[in-house]
Amino acid sequence: MTHIITSLCLRDGGCVDVCPVECIVPGNPQDKYPWYYIDPDTCIDCGACIPECPYEAIFTEDETPDAFEASGGEYQSMPAGTPGFDTAYEGENHHGQEVKLSSTKVLEAGEVVDLTADIQPNYDFFTSGPGYWDGWMDYVNP
Ligand code: SF4
Ligand code: SF4
Repeated sequence: MTHIITSLCLRDGGCVDVCPVECIVPGNPQDKYPWYYIDPDTCIDCGACIPECPYEAIFTEDETPDAFEASGGEYQSMPAGTPGFDTAYEGENHHGQEVKLSSTKVLEAGEVVDLTADIQPNYDFFTSGPGYWDGWMDYVNP
């Protein structure tokens, strides 16, 4: 098993510092890989990252909800150009860096979202995606 970062991630970065095996990586380029990603081969399922996420975006793989019911106001983020995700998000991350995401949508209260669709992209990031791109440690610890 592993832990999974879902599309509720807004690149706050707070989860990175608590991971004892340094297996949480920011997606790069941001427009193609908008979340942070957990290396499934390195994650030891300690659970330390879950309470650190201000957006409650992290789940164990087994408990990633297929029917997440929104409270309303949560942002869901997708790769640039994803249909239906045309709301901009701007904020500041855990390290004081500017975060701008162009392909997000704001969930309505009671809206139900299948977050299990976000599981495979986490695996793909480390198999067919950039994985541990050069400079990721400089990015998260400037
Ligand atoms: S703390 Fe949450 S929002 Fe921030 S990078 Fe980690 S998963 Fe994404
Ligand atoms: S569960 Fe533990 S090892 Fe896995 S990503 Fe989270 S903090 Fe890292």
